[in-house]
Amino acid sequence: MKCPFCAHHDSKVVDSRDSETRETIRRRRECLNCHKRFTTYERVEAVALYVVKKDGRREEFNHSKLLSGLVLASKKRDIAPSRLEALVEVIENDLRSRNVTEVPAREIGQIAMGLLREIDEIAYVRFASVYRSFKDVEQMRASLEEMLNRPPGTRAEPARRKRRQGRVDPRELALDLADPDGK
Ligand SMILES: [Zn+2]
Repeated sequence: MKCPFCAHHDSKVVDSRDSETRETIRRRRECLNCHKRFTTYERVEAVALYVVKKDGRREEFNHSKLLSGLVLASKKRDIAPSRLEALVEVIENDLRSRNVTEVPAREIGQIAMGLLREIDEIAYVRFASVYRSFKDVEQMRASLEEMLNRPPGTRAEPARRKRRQGRVDPRELALDLADPDGK
């Protein structure tokens, strides 16, 4: 790491911390020659993570593709864009921390749906309806009805939610994160 002031090669780290997105590490360095301070950003090179789609094709995990799917589902809802970005961050960190190279698309969709549901149920239903197959429409309808029958601000009982999820056959989920618009 060359000093930007005197081009000296040695410096010491005086402060180090994760940046807001945690993808980069910010380091404050001090040149051992001129003692001026400068900042470096180090990016951890991520191990390739592949998404296995329902037809068996693989493609590299795409952060912005997932984000745009969530943005689409949250259209006209009162959700700050930073909140969705944080959500994608949580999902990506979860997947990368598993130290696997492949993750089924439907699994990513399920994680996203679970998190989105905690934020906004309308966005959740929209997201789910895009990522699930027509076979799942019956369940979507049940979800909507349950929402409408519930007083505002209340949530489904965790046990009930779990039971409902248990009814879904993963093979019936036609998730395809590569095609958020369903094409
Ligand atoms: Zn220097």
